[in-house]
Parts: sequence; structure tokens; C-alpha cells
Amino acid sequence: MFENEMIELTMPAQKSIALIAHDNKKQELIDWCLENKKILEHHFLCGTGTTAKMVADRTGLPVRGFNSGPLGGDQQVGARIVEGKIDVVIFFSDPLAAQPHDPDVKALLRIAQVYDVPIANNKATADFIITSPFMDTPYTHSLLNFRRMVDERSKTL
Ligand code: PGA
Repeated sequence: MFENEMIELTMPAQKSIALIAHDNKKQELIDWCLENKKILEHHFLCGTGTTAKMVADRTGLPVRGFNSGPLGGDQQVGARIVEGKIDVVIFFSDPLAAQPHDPDVKALLRIAQVYDVPIANNKATADFIITSPFMDTPYTHSLLNFRRMVDERSKTL
């Protein structure tokens, strides 16, 4: 425990939303984006390579694409969470198929938890998130003060 252990950060009203879907879930995510197109138009969208391209092509929404998930795309999303550049993750993962990049998937879930980023693993959760009043207002939350933590650890370890 140390002073200023927590720090308050505010997400803007216009959110940066990452979209990811495993192969068997891609159509479900495209349908979800079509259903929610009017809301998603007001935010910034990005996603893993194939998902981003398919959503952009089939919905007309602009989606910035990273690498494909198995080639590091999930890790790119995770890195942007660490940098405070992603506010929400919609990740339709497949609970019934083994993924070659399972460690990356776990890492993404963990880092979203560390940075208190809302992350939807299925449609119901995505529906709850997208209809939340916080989607179009700023949202302030408390995070571990990571810089302070490094200062403190470097003195005490
Ligand atoms: P993809 O990656 O959008 O490139 O298919 C998604 C994933 O499997 O993480």
C-alpha cells in the first residue's frame, strides 16, 4: 500500500471500441454490428484483421484493422488498452473450439480486467454494454496508479 495508489481516468463520450470474433462467431458479430449500426457510427471502431475487414465490408462502418488475431492482433488490442487507447472490447469468442492463440486470448481478457475495460464475450453482454447510458457520456473510473507503483516498487524491492 502506498499513497495515491489509485488514479482516476475518464473515458470520453465517444468511445474507442475494439471488435474481435472467432471464426464461428464472425457472422454473429456482423449481425450485431448491423443491428447497432446507428450507435456504432458515433464511436471509433478497430479490430483484429479479418474481423475488422469483414465488419467494414458488410456493414459500411469504418473499422481500423490490426493484424489477424492468431498473428498478434489480440496482443495489439491488449497493448492499446495499456496505452489507454481502447475503451470497450466486443469479443465474440468461441467457447467450443480450441484456438491456436489461446494464450493471447487469455492475455487480452486479463489486461482488460487490469485496466477496468468493459469486455463482452457474448451477445447478451454486448447488448447490455451498447445500451448503457455510459456509452454516450464520459465515464470516470479508478485504476491502479501504475507509474506510482513502479516508483514504489523500485524503492522497496
Ligand atoms: P481475426 O482474429 O479477426 O483476424 O480472425 C480474431 C481472433 O481469432 O482473435
